Amino acid sequence: MKHKCVSVIAIVVLIFLLIPPSSAKAASMPVLKLGSKGNEVYALQYLLIDKGYNLASDGVFGRGTLKAVKSFQQEKGLEEDGAVGKRTWFELAPKQSASSYSPYASKALQHLLKHKFSFSFLDVDGIFGGATRKASIAFQKAFGLDQDGIVGLDTWISMLGSSASDLHFYPGASLFWKGKRDEGWCHPIPLGASISTQPFGQARSSGERTHAAIDYIVDVGTNVLAVADGEVIASKMFYFGTDEVQVKHLDGSVSRYGEIESFVSVGKKVKKGEALGKVIKNSENNLHMLHFEMYFGWDASGNEVVGDLTDEKAKSGSYLYVDSGRHGSGFQRRRDLIDPTGSQLLARR
Ligand SMILES: [Zn+2]
Repeated sequence: MKHKCVSVIAIVVLIFLLIPPSSAKAASMPVLKLGSKGNEVYALQYLLIDKGYNLASDGVFGRGTLKAVKSFQQEKGLEEDGAVGKRTWFELAPKQSASSYSPYASKALQHLLKHKFSFSFLDVDGIFGGATRKASIAFQKAFGLDQDGIVGLDTWISMLGSSASDLHFYPGASLFWKGKRDEGWCHPIPLGASISTQPFGQARSSGERTHAAIDYIVDVGTNVLAVADGEVIASKMFYFGTDEVQVKHLDGSVSRYGEIESFVSVGKKVKKGEALGKVIKNSENNLHMLHFEMYFGWDASGNEVVGDLTDEKAKSGSYLYVDSGRHGSGFQRRRDLIDPTGSQLLARR
């Protein structure tokens, strides 16, 4: 069968959730020089092309890039050291918005959003249209910036100086959970049950894929609760003799409860805190836990995301690999998967 939770190492990953998103504002600009490689180099090259320099955008800081950087530094009265630090970045990165943009500067930010921060639906086409604006707003929200869709210096700094891990998996996951806590969503495990956890993103299958859920390891027979009001949209076999239940909530999001024995049928309207099933042993290794996943329901363009939560056949397109694409089959999750770690913030009842 397909997915299993074999490790019993329990790690609670709360610390990063306690870091406010605005702390990402303190991101420092990367310093690039001859030999540097990667997404920031692509951005640098697009920004230099935007300034009129003729060079390739290949993500490698070679001689051609060095020559353009020195020439640009001379033009701006900066020290001509050929290294791109804060002052050079500030001169290079122009304000971009849907109403006023330049194609190559927009390519720079689209490249960062798509390839560094997994806004996989974006095209790097240099057109600052609706999709780029919405992705920029989702990015700003995730980093505690003004959500105006205008890519100014603060947003450039976060795009260039932050890492994708600051965003977790789906942009804004920690904000999502803080919002749900404030709305009164409840924890899927009842008050009183003792819990240990296995984290989202943990390696599975010798590192070929990563864990798409947080596991709440609890005693056999522990009830599993709906985190919010909603409707049961799936109640079916999961794996190793266990069931899964999926609940679609009023905001369009979908919570998924795996490795349980289901008490509910498709179409049932459930209330927050209602028992959906209970934890049972899986037949593979007799471990017992709630395997909990969460889906946002919308993409960053504002389109509803529909379809199976796991697709064992899709190779690309609307599904994301849980392991970022190293392997081509078996465990892909719908692209609106949210890092569920923040569900630990929800109140137990
Ligand atoms: Zn699991």
